[in-house]
Amino acid sequence: MEMKALCMRCRDAKRKPTMQIMNNPKVSEKNNRFSAKGQCAKCGGNMFKFLSKDDAKKLK
Ligand SMILES: [Zn+2]
Repeated sequence: MEMKALCMRCRDAKRKPTMQIMNNPKVSEKNNRFSAKGQCAKCGGNMFKFLSKDDAKKLK
């Protein structure tokens, strides 16, 4: 599954964060809330995203 998240480093011409592909997403769960951490495919920077429970299941 392809995972996308906002990258704070990859900004557009208006300096807004852009959606980029997340490499090596790692899902974690805390207090029944799911999130994924990975690296931006474009710049290699760290990315973070909250996931729905369904999305977290698809990634496992
Ligand atoms: Zn990036």
